[in-house]
Amino acid sequence: MGSLQSAIDELAAEDLTRVPVVRIADDALDQFRESERLQAQALRRLAVVDEAGVWADDGSLSSKAWLRRHGRMTAGAASERVRIARRLGDQPRTRGAFEAGDIGYEHVRQVTRVLADSRERLEPEKWDEAEAMLVDVARDHDPGSLRQVCEHFRHVVDADGFQQSEAERYDRRRFDMSPILDGMETIDGLLDAEGSAMVKSALDPLAKPRPNDTRTPSQRRADALVELARRALDRGDLPMSGGERPHLNLTVDLVTLERRAGAPAAELGRSDQPISGETARRLACDARVSRIITDGASQPIDVGRATRSIPPALRRAITARDKHCTAPGCDRPPEWCDGHHDIHWIDGGETSTANVRLLCRHHHHLEHPELKDEWARGP
Ligand SMILES: [Zn+2]
Ligand SMILES: [Zn+2]
Repeated sequence: MGSLQSAIDELAAEDLTRVPVVRIADDALDQFRESERLQAQALRRLAVVDEAGVWADDGSLSSKAWLRRHGRMTAGAASERVRIARRLGDQPRTRGAFEAGDIGYEHVRQVTRVLADSRERLEPEKWDEAEAMLVDVARDHDPGSLRQVCEHFRHVVDADGFQQSEAERYDRRRFDMSPILDGMETIDGLLDAEGSAMVKSALDPLAKPRPNDTRTPSQRRADALVELARRALDRGDLPMSGGERPHLNLTVDLVTLERRAGAPAAELGRSDQPISGETARRLACDARVSRIITDGASQPIDVGRATRSIPPALRRAITARDKHCTAPGCDRPPEWCDGHHDIHWIDGGETSTANVRLLCRHHHHLEHPELKDEWARGP
């Protein structure tokens, strides 16, 4: 024991400024590997302590409690180590590979667990074969890939139990949106494998970076989620709610749309945070929103229906003519595009082929001025 401590003291005393960095890298990897081997030895001894009952000498009620107290561990970490120490007793191949440094603690944790779970369901001979197979996989794969193999193995051995744990995970699913102070909302949730695969498959194509994209990956995913919702609202095939198809409700004063000085902000249904006049102008430009335009006294003077303000025939005409977003160099297809009024209808622009053209959502944002900075700001 003394020589182990003095070896570590020697490492601690090494002046790393005098060692070539490539050697430091090799040393670090060696030390990680040897610390795993050391862990294997500690677990081998823990198994003996556990069996002999010496943990009771200081009044501890179990070997787990003893380890938690003296090994400076949480209760969870201590029970895991006792569990693994016991299991390694009858998994000699796993123990051998661990002691040799061929596999690490994380491998051992997974292999011992899946083998213990399948003990009752396999003939001893098959079980031995399974251990050999899993240890071989562990030798060549990182713990992440090993986990997948263990899960497949679990299904092979006990499809019902596998399905049961799948159902338990599904029960833990949740999705919450909570407002924080400035009108933004946090999203927090947990999805099972099927749910998250579904959401990622839908978001990925919408979250791809554009040429010269300055958005962070996280911002791109946020935009993709909003885009997904926008498309679902646009398609108009969501279930009715309150006798209407769900849509965004924009309430804006005429003077705000007209950019008059001193005009109030606009409002969006389902959000407490008022929005700027320019955002309201963009939303009203190709209104896939239901808009209520009020006079100064909040009396409605124009209530737009929950359809696009651009009639379908006009939409078809500009789609045939433009074929894609009309911003220079952009080829986003029509389904990504709004119909943008070059002269806003509120300023007297006509809703006609001469004044309306396709712009993808990104370029539509750029065309409505105050957002230019926001979109160009980047990470
Ligand atoms: Zn526009
Ligand atoms: Zn575009």
